[in-house]
Amino acid sequence: MAYLTLRNINKIYPNGFHAVHDFNLEAERGEFIVFVGPSGCGKSTTLRMIAGLEDISKGEFLINGQLANNLGPREREVAMVFQSYALYPNMTVYDNLAFGLNLQGVDEDVIEERVQKTAKILGLTDYLDRMPRECSGGQRQRVAVGRSIIRKVGVFLMDEPLSNLDAKQRVTMRSEITQIHRETGATTIYVTHDQTEAMTMADRIVVMKNGYVQQVGTPKEVYFNPVNMFVAGFIGEPPMNFIRRKVKDGCIVIGGASFDLSKCIGEKIAGYEGQEIVFGFRPEAIALGAQENAFTTAGMVELTEMLGDNANVYIDIDDDKSILKVTPHEIPEMDTEVTFSIPYESVYLFDAKTEMVIK
Ligand code: ATP
Repeated sequence: MAYLTLRNINKIYPNGFHAVHDFNLEAERGEFIVFVGPSGCGKSTTLRMIAGLEDISKGEFLINGQLANNLGPREREVAMVFQSYALYPNMTVYDNLAFGLNLQGVDEDVIEERVQKTAKILGLTDYLDRMPRECSGGQRQRVAVGRSIIRKVGVFLMDEPLSNLDAKQRVTMRSEITQIHRETGATTIYVTHDQTEAMTMADRIVVMKNGYVQQVGTPKEVYFNPVNMFVAGFIGEPPMNFIRRKVKDGCIVIGGASFDLSKCIGEKIAGYEGQEIVFGFRPEAIALGAQENAFTTAGMVELTEMLGDNANVYIDIDDDKSILKVTPHEIPEMDTEVTFSIPYESVYLFDAKTEMVIK
């Protein structure tokens, strides 16, 4: 049985705004689930409904098979880490960590033991006597995470916990949170708008847009088998390239080259004759030059970005912009024509009207 069940969950705010539509999810015990999507898509609202901080307007929320819609936040046995660390400024790191346990009236000895253990997991042992203002952003974030894991609850809810950290700290904390999750084994729901965080941390990702779940799947599933253009464009960095073309005789023309789309979707292409289709390919799924079993075309190089281990090449093909990812040794000259190939199996075709993938 799933540990957390969200069944057709809806949120309609008192002003009438419908922020979350029919959200469905079954999270297994110990799973690390990431809600990802652009700002305003309803991630925090859904998390807050799970936490009990926001009423559920419609639908059922179950914990361990028991209806929990009307349980208060405490009864749900969840711990939440917010975007702002919300530490008590006048308490030491030790007291911040101990605060929740003190409130519960836990024995001093037990508190001491748990604070020390939590501090050890989070690398805070040397900072227990410091005040929050004497800690770096990363250390404060660790204290905030520590305050939730010290409580030994069944579910951790994290709302953009790394957004106040710089890029380097985010990468470090990302792996630390994953590590803590492995050690505690607690079911975790983590909200972010950062697809890299989602891809690197999640067992399963829930991609959201405008209050609707677009796709639920493992990082590999959402990357390799996106259900629609939104997911295909949101997951992956740089995003998938899209080129819109009209189908004629089962083919589209890109950069003067004719692509026989039956090579990708077989006879289904007949249903799109005379209609627009969206041709998608990932920047990293190309090879320079001509290749077997691939579509080969060319574009003009407008800009190149050297990133170290790879480079992005911005090209123009008949006024359509695309990005190609190449190795640092393959960077073409600006304003030259670059020939490249896209293997048939790396091509994604989308219905231009519905934006759904054509399989
Ligand atoms: P962000 O990444 O910016 O935090 P989000 O995906 O977490 O975004 P939510 O905070 O869940 O988005 O908000 C979803 C939608 O609900 C937004 O359009 C927001 O303006 C709206 N909303 C949030 N709180 C309220 C409220 N109290 N009353 C009315 N509308 C609200």
